[in-house]
Amino acid sequence: MIYNNYSEKFALLKNNKLSLVDNINYFLNQIDEKSNLNAFNFVDTDVLNKAEKIQQKIKEGSAGKLAGMVIAIKDNILQKNLKNTCSSKMLSNFTAIYDATVIKKLQDNDALLIGRTNCDEFAMGSSNENSCFGPVLNPYNNNCVSGGSSGGSAVAVAANLCDAALGSDTGGSIRQPASFCGVFGIKPSYGLVSRFGLTAFASSFDSIGCFAKNTQDSALLLSVIAGFDENDSTSVKTDNLNYLPDENKKYRIGIPSEYYKEGLDPEIDNAIKILIAKLKSAGHEIIEVDLPHTEYSIAAYYILTTAEASSNLARFDGARYGYRSKEASNLIDQYINSRSEGFGQEVKRRIMLGTFVLSTGYYDAYYKKAQKVRNLIKMDFDNVFNKTDIILTPTTPTVAFGIGEKSTDPLQMYLSDVYTTSANLAGIPGLNIPIGFNSKGLPIGAQILAKQFDEANIFKLSTQIECLLK
Ligand code: GLN
Repeated sequence: MIYNNYSEKFALLKNNKLSLVDNINYFLNQIDEKSNLNAFNFVDTDVLNKAEKIQQKIKEGSAGKLAGMVIAIKDNILQKNLKNTCSSKMLSNFTAIYDATVIKKLQDNDALLIGRTNCDEFAMGSSNENSCFGPVLNPYNNNCVSGGSSGGSAVAVAANLCDAALGSDTGGSIRQPASFCGVFGIKPSYGLVSRFGLTAFASSFDSIGCFAKNTQDSALLLSVIAGFDENDSTSVKTDNLNYLPDENKKYRIGIPSEYYKEGLDPEIDNAIKILIAKLKSAGHEIIEVDLPHTEYSIAAYYILTTAEASSNLARFDGARYGYRSKEASNLIDQYINSRSEGFGQEVKRRIMLGTFVLSTGYYDAYYKKAQKVRNLIKMDFDNVFNKTDIILTPTTPTVAFGIGEKSTDPLQMYLSDVYTTSANLAGIPGLNIPIGFNSKGLPIGAQILAKQFDEANIFKLSTQIECLLK
């Protein structure tokens, strides 16, 4: 590729040094050549026709903020007239009848949407092995997983099948695959980006965010999709959407002891320690901090999200839309058989778990208690952000693991989100920054967290980290 970031690409397009049609053809060829990675569920070749129009707009000087940026979309974000399968048999025949707000914003800014990426079924998973289209392979080692649930989006960016991608993150589904695939992945603050048109998994956790190859593109893309939307009552009015770099700003960076304990791969630990040393010599203040309720985050996350999922997924009953079983002679059997046949194993596990924790007699012991724990986790972050600007952690306890290695052990699989779920419980933003590779050539990621709606400082520090690691 002849450009390193979108602003370079735009300059090439503007000066007629790059043809957008050639650029799209290049990506389409790449997608074809690397189809073994299984990153895309569908490609939208109509993108070629749109490219000509946008090239023209660039010439005339009337192009939008993302003119010609080629973006892949996770297959759970609605795009009008395209299939939205959530990688589930349940929705294999479902075509979206409207555009998600984020899609409208991308199109209004002249981005080019190249196709729909593979993911774990209904975004439930950490390895992209729970997909009716099969697993997504890690581009650095095809025997390893891509991470999940937005594995296809992470791989599409990592394998250079597009410029950037959208994903969703309920407990780590952007940051964890970004870490496994060596790309940038931002989960924004809860409320920053409208979820109108995102297939809901756990509504008080879900966020739409971006994958890109550098900080600059991540920040630009997020600034376009962010903002209040009257169609999502949880979206918030914010004015600080200009993410400008600042090479000189010094930060108070918190290092939470709970994230550097047993279970963390020593090579990741080492890579982060080297980064911390570099940040210190660059003049940032490093402060040891505690997030004492971290050990309860996975438990609270899996109680609350399954509860919300059991309610959100009730709509897929085979009657209104979705897969309908042919094996039923009455309505109840139709519901039961459609859901039994249409959903995969992990989705069914979550619905059962969620129904259980909400049931009379167990509600107080599980759901209500987990809500209280969620509040304690949020308060942990509030306390730490009184004395720091940023928290720096590993994104994941291990690098990408082998395909099949954890798929029979749900608890082990759930633990791969041990460092990412807390941000969703607390509603704060988190970014994965690729910081290097382990001895086997697999990517290592660091996560930076900040106060709610403080994405600007995340991107400022990330730009500095990119320079420090060069
Ligand atoms: N891996 C986590 C889960 O399975 C997170 C998923 C997500 O963020 N969508 O719930």
